Amino acid sequence: MLTRLFAGALCLGLLCGCTSRSVSGEDAAETRHLVEKPSTISAEQWGSDPLQIPEERKHTPKFITIHHAGVDWKAGSDPFKKIRDLQAWGKKTVEDGGKNWPDLPYHFLIAPDGRVFEGRPLEYEPETNTNYDVHGHIGVQLWGNFEVQRISSHQVTSAIHLVAWLSQEYGVDDALIGGHRDVAEDTSCPGADFYRYLEDGKFLGWVNRFRDGESAVIDLGPALEGGPTEMIPMPE
Ligand SMILES: [Zn+2]
Repeated sequence: MLTRLFAGALCLGLLCGCTSRSVSGEDAAETRHLVEKPSTISAEQWGSDPLQIPEERKHTPKFITIHHAGVDWKAGSDPFKKIRDLQAWGKKTVEDGGKNWPDLPYHFLIAPDGRVFEGRPLEYEPETNTNYDVHGHIGVQLWGNFEVQRISSHQVTSAIHLVAWLSQEYGVDDALIGGHRDVAEDTSCPGADFYRYLEDGKFLGWVNRFRDGESAVIDLGPALEGGPTEMIPMPE
């Protein structure tokens, strides 16, 4: 027991975001890592004001689909304002220039400094502007436009922790973790500078290492050839 406690403490000391626990009382020697939920800014904390989402839109999460905002992140922008504005715009009727969405289109949104905001409750399917069946998809959005901005390591590190935790909680198969463009044909989302890590398997490798309790040291490498070179600026 003492050994296990010590291992857990050491693990947390390395900031790998997990703890060790016994899987079964029958075999105390067998332990597995448990990824803890990353710290988030709850919907209540950022001042969410959703409408009621219809019952028929409830779903069981099965996929994790990653997006970018597709809009350049400007230096000093306030993610609290951004998320409230996105919700307010989506809630407007189509005639009013909105989308008729009762709540945010995504379940989680990650700021350039790595802060994770909670959006739509996970029990409801997300929304999309493109053509794919959103049922069963957990939507994670990274703020920025990764066609023209480079993603920050803070953002990728938070995405790794979040995806490791979500896949553990919902039993999402690695093959069902991907980018928006993997499930919809009419988009370049989540942008070249992030999609490359999905395409070459690096992102899933980082997620797997995190789930195994190894420290989440990541190297994003040099700028993509022909891709963006400007680093995304930090928020307020
Ligand atoms: Zn997208």
